[in-house]
Amino acid sequence: MGNSVAIHPAIDAGVLPALPAFSGGVLHCKCPSDRVEVTISAQTAHNHACGCSKCWKPEGALFSQVAVVSRDKLKVTAHEEKLKVVDPGAAIQRHACTGCGVHMYGRIENKAHPFFGLDFVHTELSGVRGWSPPEFAAFVSSIIETGTDPARMPAIRARLKELGLEPYDCLSPPLMDAISTHVARSRQ
Ligand SMILES: [Zn+2]
Ligand SMILES: [Zn+2]
Repeated sequence: MGNSVAIHPAIDAGVLPALPAFSGGVLHCKCPSDRVEVTISAQTAHNHACGCSKCWKPEGALFSQVAVVSRDKLKVTAHEEKLKVVDPGAAIQRHACTGCGVHMYGRIENKAHPFFGLDFVHTELSGVRGWSPPEFAAFVSSIIETGTDPARMPAIRARLKELGLEPYDCLSPPLMDAISTHVARSRQ
């Protein structure tokens, strides 16, 4: 279907709708045994494809798929001892499995951050359907920084549009507005 650009394995065959009354699931890392398990007890929101260099991407994917959920709805339920923060200096603390490298969740500890209270998760790690589908593509131009040939960008943007994922080079306008609103309020 369409052109042959591989965006992400959970997206390439088409974006599936959320299932009504879907209330979460269990994410697993990719270790063959002693898998880290993260239980999410809510539907996610703001799911999107992300081209930044920090989000975890599956093998061969140009983009990650990342959604948010309230941090009180996320719990590490097995093998927490295998998790380590990738970059303690980053705004989003990505907790990765030291065995397989998969990022199990990203958390913001800075209470002044616009997205404080939200954790970032890759719902394809659950293997079940029904999660909120990706709605747009963020930080699209950033994939050039991690090695994508700039000449491929028109085809990649065209494929994202074909999938219904509007390409943005930062976040989507509603999320950029939310960040700026937070900044404006914090200055009052
Ligand atoms: Zn693992
Ligand atoms: Zn990202």
